[in-house]
Amino acid sequence: MPESSAPIALGIVGVGKIVRDQHLPALAKDGNYRLIAAASRHGKVDGIANFPSIEAMLEATPELDAVSLCMPPQFRHDAARTAIDAGKHVFLEKPPGATVSEVEHLKALAAAKGVSLFASWHSRYAPAVEAARAFLASTRLRSAAINWKEDVRRWHPNQEWIWQAGGFGVFDPGINALSIATHILPAMFIAEAVLDFPENRDAPVAAHIVFRTADGMSVPMELDWLQTGPQSWDILAETDDGSMVLSSGGAKLALDGRIVHEEPEAEYPMLYRHFAEIVRAGTSDVDLAPLQHVADAFMLGRRNVVEAFYD
Ligand code: NAP
Repeated sequence: MPESSAPIALGIVGVGKIVRDQHLPALAKDGNYRLIAAASRHGKVDGIANFPSIEAMLEATPELDAVSLCMPPQFRHDAARTAIDAGKHVFLEKPPGATVSEVEHLKALAAAKGVSLFASWHSRYAPAVEAARAFLASTRLRSAAINWKEDVRRWHPNQEWIWQAGGFGVFDPGINALSIATHILPAMFIAEAVLDFPENRDAPVAAHIVFRTADGMSVPMELDWLQTGPQSWDILAETDDGSMVLSSGGAKLALDGRIVHEEPEAEYPMLYRHFAEIVRAGTSDVDLAPLQHVADAFMLGRRNVVEAFYD
Protein backbone atom coordinates (compact mmCIF):
# COMPACT_ATOMS: atom_id res chain seq x y z
CA MET A 1 0.00 0.00 0.00
CA PRO A 2 1.58 3.31 -1.06
CA GLU A 3 1.95 6.27 1.34
CA SER A 4 -1.19 8.34 0.80
CA SER A 5 0.56 10.85 -1.47
CA ALA A 6 3.11 8.49 -3.08
CA PRO A 7 2.36 7.41 -6.65
CA ILE A 8 0.76 3.99 -7.01
CA ALA A 9 3.18 1.56 -8.67
CA LEU A 10 1.10 0.05 -11.48
CA GLY A 11 1.43 -2.89 -13.85
CA ILE A 12 -0.73 -3.29 -16.96
CA VAL A 13 -1.82 -6.64 -18.36
CA GLY A 14 -3.02 -7.42 -21.91
CA VAL A 15 -1.37 -4.77 -24.06
CA GLY A 16 -3.74 -4.29 -27.01
CA LYS A 17 -6.07 -1.73 -28.53
CA ILE A 18 -7.59 -0.17 -25.42
CA VAL A 19 -4.25 0.00 -23.59
CA ARG A 20 -2.70 1.92 -26.47
CA ASP A 21 -5.75 4.07 -27.23
CA GLN A 22 -6.69 5.03 -23.67
CA HIS A 23 -4.77 3.59 -20.70
CA LEU A 24 -1.27 4.72 -21.68
CA PRO A 25 -2.27 8.31 -22.61
CA ALA A 26 -4.34 8.65 -19.40
CA LEU A 27 -1.55 7.26 -17.20
CA ALA A 28 1.09 9.46 -18.84
CA LYS A 29 -0.73 12.54 -17.50
CA ASP A 30 -1.68 11.23 -14.06
CA GLY A 31 0.74 11.90 -11.20
CA ASN A 32 -1.11 9.39 -9.02
CA TYR A 33 0.65 6.53 -10.83
CA ARG A 34 4.05 5.20 -11.79
CA LEU A 35 3.56 2.67 -14.60
CA ILE A 36 6.50 0.32 -14.03
CA ALA A 37 5.65 -2.99 -15.71
CA ALA A 38 3.53 -4.67 -18.37
CA ALA A 39 2.57 -8.29 -18.99
CA SER A 40 1.44 -9.44 -22.41
CA ARG A 41 2.19 -12.39 -24.66
CA HIS A 42 2.85 -10.20 -27.70
CA GLY A 43 2.35 -6.54 -26.82
CA LYS A 44 5.00 -4.36 -25.17
CA VAL A 45 5.06 -0.91 -23.56
CA ASP A 46 8.17 1.16 -24.30
CA GLY A 47 10.38 2.30 -21.45
CA ILE A 48 9.19 -0.10 -18.73
CA ALA A 49 9.83 -3.74 -17.79
CA ASN A 50 7.84 -6.18 -19.98
CA PHE A 51 6.92 -9.76 -19.09
CA PRO A 52 5.18 -12.61 -20.93
CA SER A 53 2.66 -13.29 -18.14
CA ILE A 54 1.14 -11.72 -15.04
CA GLU A 55 2.83 -14.39 -12.89
CA ALA A 56 6.29 -13.44 -14.23
CA MET A 57 5.52 -9.74 -13.75
CA LEU A 58 4.38 -10.16 -10.14
CA GLU A 59 7.36 -12.31 -9.24
CA ALA A 60 9.93 -9.95 -10.75
CA THR A 61 8.25 -6.72 -9.57
CA PRO A 62 7.18 -7.12 -5.93
CA GLU A 63 6.99 -3.33 -5.53
CA LEU A 64 3.81 -3.23 -7.66
CA ASP A 65 0.84 -1.85 -5.71
CA ALA A 66 -1.82 -2.40 -8.36
CA VAL A 67 -2.57 -3.91 -11.75
CA SER A 68 -4.91 -2.97 -14.62
CA LEU A 69 -6.36 -6.00 -16.40
CA CYS A 70 -7.09 -5.15 -20.04
CA MET A 71 -7.36 -8.53 -21.75
CA PRO A 72 -10.71 -9.82 -23.15
CA PRO A 73 -13.25 -10.70 -20.44
CA GLN A 74 -12.96 -14.49 -20.78
CA PHE A 75 -9.40 -14.31 -19.42
CA ARG A 76 -9.80 -11.69 -16.69
CA HIS A 77 -10.83 -13.82 -13.72
CA ASP A 78 -7.69 -15.97 -13.55
CA ALA A 79 -5.47 -12.90 -13.82
CA ALA A 80 -7.50 -11.01 -11.21
CA ARG A 81 -7.35 -13.91 -8.77
CA THR A 82 -3.58 -14.13 -9.22
CA ALA A 83 -3.19 -10.40 -8.58
CA ILE A 84 -5.48 -10.33 -5.54
CA ASP A 85 -3.73 -13.37 -4.05
CA ALA A 86 -0.48 -11.41 -4.42
CA GLY A 87 -2.04 -8.52 -2.46
CA LYS A 88 -2.42 -6.10 -5.39
CA HIS A 89 -5.26 -3.64 -6.01
CA VAL A 90 -7.06 -4.47 -9.25
CA PHE A 91 -8.57 -2.29 -12.00
CA LEU A 92 -10.82 -4.40 -14.23
CA GLU A 93 -11.54 -3.23 -17.78
CA LYS A 94 -15.19 -3.56 -18.76
CA PRO A 95 -16.88 -5.99 -18.75
CA PRO A 96 -15.40 -7.02 -15.39
CA GLY A 97 -15.66 -10.73 -16.20
CA ALA A 98 -17.36 -13.30 -18.37
CA THR A 99 -19.91 -14.27 -15.70
CA VAL A 100 -21.58 -12.59 -12.74
CA SER A 101 -20.52 -15.25 -10.25
CA GLU A 102 -16.83 -15.04 -11.10
CA VAL A 103 -16.86 -11.30 -10.37
CA GLU A 104 -18.76 -11.93 -7.12
CA HIS A 105 -15.94 -14.33 -6.28
CA LEU A 106 -13.35 -11.61 -6.95
CA LYS A 107 -15.28 -9.19 -4.70
CA ALA A 108 -15.14 -11.66 -1.84
CA LEU A 109 -11.45 -12.40 -2.43
CA ALA A 110 -10.55 -8.71 -2.56
CA ALA A 111 -12.46 -8.02 0.66
CA ALA A 112 -10.73 -10.93 2.42
CA LYS A 113 -7.31 -9.74 1.22
CA GLY A 114 -7.97 -6.08 2.05
CA VAL A 115 -7.26 -4.84 -1.48
CA SER A 116 -9.34 -2.54 -3.70
CA LEU A 117 -11.26 -3.94 -6.66
CA PHE A 118 -12.59 -1.58 -9.33
CA ALA A 119 -15.06 -2.71 -11.99
CA SER A 120 -14.54 0.17 -14.38
CA TRP A 121 -17.45 1.31 -16.59
CA HIS A 122 -15.83 3.92 -18.81
CA SER A 123 -19.08 5.13 -20.43
CA ARG A 124 -20.43 6.23 -17.05
CA TYR A 125 -17.68 8.87 -17.12
CA ALA A 126 -18.76 10.30 -20.49
CA PRO A 127 -19.09 14.09 -20.18
CA ALA A 128 -22.89 14.51 -20.28
CA VAL A 129 -23.92 11.47 -18.21
CA GLU A 130 -24.13 13.28 -14.86
CA ALA A 131 -26.14 16.12 -16.42
CA ALA A 132 -28.58 13.57 -17.89
CA ARG A 133 -28.88 11.85 -14.53
CA ALA A 134 -29.57 15.16 -12.78
CA PHE A 135 -32.20 16.12 -15.40
CA LEU A 136 -34.02 12.79 -15.11
CA ALA A 137 -33.91 12.94 -11.32
CA SER A 138 -35.61 16.36 -11.47
CA THR A 139 -38.61 15.32 -13.56
CA ARG A 140 -41.06 12.47 -14.25
CA LEU A 141 -40.14 9.92 -16.88
CA ARG A 142 -42.89 9.11 -19.42
CA SER A 143 -40.92 6.84 -21.75
CA ALA A 144 -37.35 5.86 -22.58
CA ALA A 145 -35.49 3.94 -25.27
CA ILE A 146 -31.90 2.85 -25.90
CA ASN A 147 -30.35 2.60 -29.39
CA TRP A 148 -26.74 1.41 -29.65
CA LYS A 149 -25.89 0.76 -33.29
CA GLU A 150 -22.37 0.64 -34.67
CA ASP A 151 -20.25 -0.98 -37.36
CA VAL A 152 -18.30 -3.92 -35.92
CA ARG A 153 -15.97 -3.96 -38.94
CA ARG A 154 -14.93 -0.40 -38.16
CA TRP A 155 -14.50 -0.66 -34.37
CA HIS A 156 -13.41 -4.28 -33.86
CA PRO A 157 -11.39 -5.35 -36.90
CA ASN A 158 -9.79 -8.81 -36.55
CA GLN A 159 -10.95 -9.33 -32.94
CA GLU A 160 -11.85 -13.01 -32.81
CA TRP A 161 -12.48 -13.18 -29.04
CA ILE A 162 -15.44 -10.86 -29.38
CA TRP A 163 -17.31 -13.45 -31.49
CA GLN A 164 -16.51 -16.35 -29.18
CA ALA A 165 -18.68 -17.54 -26.30
CA GLY A 166 -17.96 -15.22 -23.37
CA GLY A 167 -16.84 -12.45 -25.76
CA PHE A 168 -20.31 -10.81 -25.53
CA GLY A 169 -20.73 -10.04 -29.27
CA VAL A 170 -22.88 -6.92 -29.70
CA PHE A 171 -23.16 -6.70 -25.91
CA ASP A 172 -19.50 -5.63 -25.80
CA PRO A 173 -20.62 -2.13 -26.86
CA GLY A 174 -24.16 -2.76 -25.57
CA ILE A 175 -22.91 -3.11 -22.00
CA ASN A 176 -21.64 0.47 -22.27
CA ALA A 177 -25.23 1.59 -22.90
CA LEU A 178 -26.32 -0.48 -19.93
CA SER A 179 -23.65 1.04 -17.71
CA ILE A 180 -25.17 4.46 -18.44
CA ALA A 181 -28.81 3.30 -18.34
CA THR A 182 -28.38 1.66 -14.93
CA HIS A 183 -26.91 4.97 -13.67
CA ILE A 184 -29.53 7.38 -15.01
CA LEU A 185 -32.80 5.43 -15.46
CA PRO A 186 -35.01 3.85 -12.79
CA ALA A 187 -34.41 0.19 -11.91
CA MET A 188 -35.60 -2.09 -14.71
CA PHE A 189 -35.64 -5.76 -15.61
CA ILE A 190 -35.53 -7.59 -18.92
CA ALA A 191 -39.02 -8.69 -19.95
CA GLU A 192 -38.31 -9.88 -23.50
CA ALA A 193 -35.17 -10.48 -25.56
CA VAL A 194 -34.31 -11.84 -29.00
CA LEU A 195 -30.62 -12.31 -29.77
CA ASP A 196 -29.52 -12.63 -33.42
CA PHE A 197 -26.60 -15.06 -33.76
CA PRO A 198 -24.83 -15.28 -37.14
CA GLU A 199 -24.91 -18.94 -38.14
CA ASN A 200 -21.09 -19.14 -38.03
CA ARG A 201 -20.56 -17.30 -34.69
CA ASP A 202 -21.02 -17.99 -30.97
CA ALA A 203 -21.99 -14.44 -29.99
CA PRO A 204 -24.85 -12.20 -31.15
CA VAL A 205 -24.60 -9.52 -33.85
CA ALA A 206 -27.86 -7.82 -32.78
CA ALA A 207 -30.26 -7.86 -29.86
CA HIS A 208 -33.86 -6.68 -29.48
CA ILE A 209 -34.72 -6.20 -25.83
CA VAL A 210 -37.61 -4.82 -23.84
CA PHE A 211 -36.96 -3.82 -20.24
CA ARG A 212 -39.76 -3.17 -17.79
CA THR A 213 -39.42 -0.70 -14.92
CA ALA A 214 -40.88 -1.40 -11.47
CA ASP A 215 -43.80 0.89 -12.51
CA GLY A 216 -44.50 -1.26 -15.56
CA MET A 217 -43.04 1.13 -18.17
CA SER A 218 -41.52 -0.64 -21.19
CA VAL A 219 -38.03 0.50 -22.23
CA PRO A 220 -36.93 -0.93 -25.59
CA MET A 221 -33.23 -1.41 -26.33
CA GLU A 222 -31.96 -2.08 -29.85
CA LEU A 223 -28.37 -3.25 -30.31
CA ASP A 224 -27.00 -3.63 -33.82
CA TRP A 225 -23.45 -4.29 -34.94
CA LEU A 226 -24.00 -3.89 -38.69
CA GLN A 227 -24.81 -0.20 -38.79
CA THR A 228 -22.83 1.56 -41.50
CA GLY A 229 -22.93 5.34 -42.00
CA PRO A 230 -23.74 7.45 -38.95
CA GLN A 231 -23.31 5.50 -35.71
CA SER A 232 -25.92 5.72 -32.92
CA TRP A 233 -25.09 5.50 -29.25
CA ASP A 234 -28.22 7.13 -27.86
CA ILE A 235 -30.51 7.06 -24.82
CA LEU A 236 -33.81 8.86 -25.42
CA ALA A 237 -36.43 9.93 -22.92
CA GLU A 238 -39.75 11.75 -22.87
CA THR A 239 -40.45 13.49 -19.57
CA ASP A 240 -42.92 15.93 -17.98
CA ASP A 241 -40.32 18.60 -18.78
CA GLY A 242 -39.77 17.71 -22.43
CA SER A 243 -37.61 15.37 -24.45
CA MET A 244 -34.05 14.32 -23.63
CA VAL A 245 -31.48 12.84 -26.00
CA LEU A 246 -28.19 11.65 -24.54
CA SER A 247 -26.15 10.87 -27.66
CA SER A 248 -22.62 10.07 -28.85
CA GLY A 249 -22.18 7.49 -26.11
CA GLY A 250 -22.97 9.98 -23.35
CA ALA A 251 -20.92 12.89 -24.74
CA LYS A 252 -23.85 15.14 -25.75
CA LEU A 253 -27.08 16.05 -24.01
CA ALA A 254 -30.00 17.75 -25.79
CA LEU A 255 -33.19 18.88 -24.10
CA ASP A 256 -36.12 19.60 -26.44
CA GLY A 257 -33.65 19.55 -29.35
CA ARG A 258 -31.24 22.10 -27.84
CA ILE A 259 -27.71 20.94 -26.93
CA VAL A 260 -27.22 21.81 -23.26
CA HIS A 261 -24.07 19.83 -22.54
CA GLU A 262 -21.15 18.92 -24.81
CA GLU A 263 -17.55 18.69 -23.65
CA PRO A 264 -14.45 16.82 -24.78
CA GLU A 265 -14.44 13.31 -23.33
CA ALA A 266 -12.03 12.37 -20.51
CA GLU A 267 -13.36 8.95 -19.54
CA TYR A 268 -10.08 7.17 -18.83
CA PRO A 269 -8.41 10.03 -16.91
CA MET A 270 -11.53 10.05 -14.70
CA LEU A 271 -11.48 6.26 -14.28
CA TYR A 272 -7.87 6.37 -13.12
CA ARG A 273 -8.56 9.29 -10.78
CA HIS A 274 -11.39 7.30 -9.19
CA PHE A 275 -9.23 4.16 -8.92
CA ALA A 276 -6.55 6.16 -7.05
CA GLU A 277 -9.25 7.47 -4.70
CA ILE A 278 -10.59 4.04 -3.81
CA VAL A 279 -7.10 2.58 -3.38
CA ARG A 280 -6.23 5.42 -0.97
CA ALA A 281 -9.57 5.10 0.82
CA GLY A 282 -9.19 1.32 1.13
CA THR A 283 -12.55 0.66 -0.57
CA SER A 284 -13.83 -1.18 -3.65
CA ASP A 285 -16.26 -0.17 -6.41
CA VAL A 286 -17.90 -3.13 -8.14
CA ASP A 287 -21.35 -2.50 -9.59
CA LEU A 288 -22.54 -5.63 -11.36
CA ALA A 289 -25.87 -4.24 -12.63
CA PRO A 290 -24.80 -3.86 -16.30
CA LEU A 291 -23.26 -7.35 -16.37
CA GLN A 292 -26.35 -8.83 -14.70
CA HIS A 293 -28.59 -7.41 -17.47
CA VAL A 294 -26.38 -9.01 -20.12
CA ALA A 295 -26.49 -12.33 -18.28
CA ASP A 296 -30.30 -12.01 -18.06
CA ALA A 297 -30.55 -11.29 -21.80
CA PHE A 298 -28.64 -14.50 -22.54
CA MET A 299 -30.77 -16.39 -19.97
CA LEU A 300 -34.19 -15.13 -21.07
CA GLY A 301 -33.51 -14.32 -24.72
CA ARG A 302 -34.74 -16.31 -27.67
CA ARG A 303 -31.92 -17.25 -30.04
CA ASN A 304 -32.51 -16.29 -33.65
CA VAL A 305 -30.02 -17.61 -36.22
CA VAL A 306 -29.17 -15.06 -38.93
CA GLU A 307 -26.89 -14.81 -41.97
CA ALA A 308 -23.21 -15.71 -41.43
CA PHE A 309 -20.84 -12.87 -40.56
CA TYR A 310 -17.46 -12.48 -42.28
CA ASP A 311 -14.95 -9.65 -41.62
P1 NAP B 1 -7.62 -6.61 -27.86
O1 NAP B 1 -6.70 -5.56 -28.36
O2 NAP B 1 -8.14 -7.61 -28.84
O3 NAP B 1 -7.00 -7.45 -26.66
C1 NAP B 1 -6.22 -6.86 -25.65
C2 NAP B 1 -5.04 -7.77 -25.37
O4 NAP B 1 -5.47 -8.89 -24.61
C3 NAP B 1 -4.42 -8.39 -26.62
O5 NAP B 1 -3.54 -7.50 -27.25
C4 NAP B 1 -3.73 -9.61 -26.08
O6 NAP B 1 -2.40 -9.30 -25.69
C5 NAP B 1 -4.56 -9.96 -24.85
N1 NAP B 1 -5.31 -11.19 -25.17
C6 NAP B 1 -6.02 -11.46 -26.27
N2 NAP B 1 -6.49 -12.72 -26.23
C7 NAP B 1 -6.05 -13.24 -25.06
C8 NAP B 1 -6.15 -14.51 -24.46
N3 NAP B 1 -6.77 -15.52 -25.09
N4 NAP B 1 -5.59 -14.69 -23.25
C9 NAP B 1 -4.93 -13.70 -22.65
N5 NAP B 1 -4.75 -12.48 -23.20
C10 NAP B 1 -5.31 -12.25 -24.39
O7 NAP B 1 -8.88 -5.98 -27.16
P2 NAP B 1 -9.19 -4.49 -26.67
O8 NAP B 1 -9.98 -3.81 -27.72
O9 NAP B 1 -7.97 -3.84 -26.14
O10 NAP B 1 -10.23 -4.84 -25.50
C11 NAP B 1 -9.80 -5.39 -24.28
C12 NAP B 1 -10.85 -5.12 -23.23
O11 NAP B 1 -11.06 -3.72 -23.14
C13 NAP B 1 -12.22 -5.74 -23.58
O12 NAP B 1 -12.83 -6.22 -22.43
C14 NAP B 1 -13.00 -4.58 -24.16
O13 NAP B 1 -14.40 -4.71 -23.96
C15 NAP B 1 -12.44 -3.42 -23.36
N6 NAP B 1 -12.56 -2.14 -24.05
C16 NAP B 1 -12.20 -2.01 -25.36
C17 NAP B 1 -12.41 -0.79 -26.02
C18 NAP B 1 -12.02 -0.57 -27.47
O14 NAP B 1 -12.33 0.48 -28.02
N7 NAP B 1 -11.31 -1.49 -28.12
C19 NAP B 1 -12.97 0.28 -25.33
C20 NAP B 1 -13.23 0.13 -23.97
C21 NAP B 1 -13.04 -1.08 -23.36
P3 NAP B 1 -1.22 -10.39 -25.85
O15 NAP B 1 -1.52 -11.22 -27.06
O16 NAP B 1 0.00 -9.55 -26.00
O17 NAP B 1 -1.26 -11.19 -24.58
